[in-house]
Amino acid sequence: MPDSSDIPGNDGMTEAAIGPSVAEVVPSKRTRLSRPPGVTRQFFWTYLGGFVVLHLLALLALVPWLFSWTGVASVFVGNLVFGALGINLAYHRLLTHNGLTLPKWLEHLFAILGVCCLQDAPARWVAIHRMHHQHSDQEPDPHSPLVDFFWGHMGWLMYQNKYFGTPDFYDRYVREILKDPFYLRLERDFRYLSVYLAHAVLFYLAGFVIGWWMAGELLGGIQFGASLLVWGVFVRTVYVWHITWAVNSVTHRWGYRNYDVSDQSRNNWIIGLTNNGEGWHNNHHAFPRCAAHGHKWWELDLTYILILLLERLGLAKNVVHPTTEQLRIGAKRTDPV
Ligand SMILES: [Zn+2]
Ligand SMILES: [Zn+2]
Repeated sequence: MPDSSDIPGNDGMTEAAIGPSVAEVVPSKRTRLSRPPGVTRQFFWTYLGGFVVLHLLALLALVPWLFSWTGVASVFVGNLVFGALGINLAYHRLLTHNGLTLPKWLEHLFAILGVCCLQDAPARWVAIHRMHHQHSDQEPDPHSPLVDFFWGHMGWLMYQNKYFGTPDFYDRYVREILKDPFYLRLERDFRYLSVYLAHAVLFYLAGFVIGWWMAGELLGGIQFGASLLVWGVFVRTVYVWHITWAVNSVTHRWGYRNYDVSDQSRNNWIIGLTNNGEGWHNNHHAFPRCAAHGHKWWELDLTYILILLLERLGLAKNVVHPTTEQLRIGAKRTDPV
């Protein structure tokens, strides 16, 4: 485990939070940024095609034959299981920021849950996010909404960025993660896509068996399997995509600030609640390693509650809790926008 200061994006944030001259370097909401230098004019068809296909497949939820309340519930349970445990806890708070450790088997299991959200293999996701913290709302932040809102939300994923995937990119940002053969394998040749497809098949098969058993006929199995596939995989994937992307776009535009950090990060209660705590993004930029993103009593952080539960069970270790000093500074510096 590298020291936190070795990790781009994890250094100097506490000082930034309490430094007296931060206001002088904070970009204003009206500051415009250019697209990062590595971005070309060519569409990244692998991702763009995936976005179009998944959004169209998610629209199948409008077909009444495919509706089931279990399917609807699977979106929200799936957001907790795949979104909170996979993306928020494993990809973000653990792998990116070392805010906690888990036994390797559990870390890998949660990382697989993240893979099932179709948001890149873990190492690439982590590298891009560390780059974001290092250059937040300055060039070459990969997805600042100061370029424009759509760019910050999903536009940045639709164009080739020549820097992503280069040896320097991996070496600089995720060298220690790729020492683990598990993450290296997932990174190669889009192998993580087969994991995503396998979990979609499992969703269908589980629904098929349960539906056939409940209805007592084959058609019941086909219908319920398709319903779970559409709602539990397609709709959930698109939903988790947008609430994750909203952290990059919405919470760098709208909300209130507890800390005067040198970027546009904000705490946004809609994203905070829908994305299980990730929307308290200004707190997170002030203290990137802290496993808790909610710092005030009303800032509900379901992901942190899951981390506390894992710590109570003896599974999560080295959890970086907020210190009273950090919280005291945050309380004094409240700066509603
Ligand atoms: Zn951010
Ligand atoms: Zn982060």
